[in-house]
Amino acid sequence: MSGRVLVLHTGGTIGMERGTDGYRPMPGFGAVLRRHLDGVCWLPAFDLVELPQPIDSANLQPAQWTAIAAELVARWNDYRGFVVLHGTDTMAWTASALSFMLRGADRPVILTGAQIPLVEPRSDALANVRTALLLAGSLKCGEVGIFFGRRLLRGNRSTKFSSTALDAFASPNAAALAEVGIDVRVAAHDPLPAGARDFQLPQIDSRAVAVLTVHPGLSARQVDALTDDPALRGLVLCSYGAGNLPDATPGLLDALARAVARGVVVVNRTQCAHGPVVQGAYATAAALNRIGVVAAADMTLEAAFAKLHVLLALHPDPALVRARFGTALCGELS
Ligand code: ASP
Repeated sequence: MSGRVLVLHTGGTIGMERGTDGYRPMPGFGAVLRRHLDGVCWLPAFDLVELPQPIDSANLQPAQWTAIAAELVARWNDYRGFVVLHGTDTMAWTASALSFMLRGADRPVILTGAQIPLVEPRSDALANVRTALLLAGSLKCGEVGIFFGRRLLRGNRSTKFSSTALDAFASPNAAALAEVGIDVRVAAHDPLPAGARDFQLPQIDSRAVAVLTVHPGLSARQVDALTDDPALRGLVLCSYGAGNLPDATPGLLDALARAVARGVVVVNRTQCAHGPVVQGAYATAAALNRIGVVAAADMTLEAAFAKLHVLLALHPDPALVRARFGTALCGELS
């Protein structure tokens, strides 16, 4: 393994410029970034690869996760670590998906980006990229992480928390992996150790998973409208508190039960940023156990969604997906 780091640019604010209708990916960003990084003696040696069409990550489709993972896997043995430049809007979703595809990674993959484009005044881009490069060039672990602002977070525990702060990401149910101030302080608890590679790059059907937020007034008809889609194979239910939903609403549980019966894997994730689903702590959620809805414990929405996508793409059998969804695969649940 060389000591070099690969930087893969996929898009995002970091590489955008202002157009008449707002920020858009700028042509030639790679050369601009290189000018800022080349010759900085304290950075590890690196190569830069740009996807042919860098995107605003709001346009990311789940099927693209496999292509991003494939770019890394194709170069895996040539680099000691990877930095993925990505838009912040879906960075936590992609980081989660990569963690499930690159299980047993034996070197770090660090996603980063910026809230302010590199070419704008007061940009946070360089500080983020340079630190991400240092981390990817030095950490001895198999984490897919997000470095942003001042913290390295486990990717599948992260969520975009602020649309304006330079410290844009939070990890509500797991401690940071490292705090970066004057010193880089790697947390006392162990990051995922470098493991035996178990990479899986399945073809993902972007239509296979949907998210349904429980709200006062949610009707059976609304559930039917969402689940009555032959392409749908998984549903993330974002419930209240410890995993509750309005079980007194006529037909609501029946609509969910119908979806489960026709093979849709329904998982229950709380709307609360912090804390787990305890399905059955209240009578309003006990019925979910009976109809075969799986509790997502304290997974983030992004991790639950990506895990469901990857498992469904790997396994045709919903029973197997249900069983695997509830077990920890790469540090995504407590
Ligand atoms: N819309 C941008 C993106 O996700 C936001 C960002 O990068 O901060 O690509």
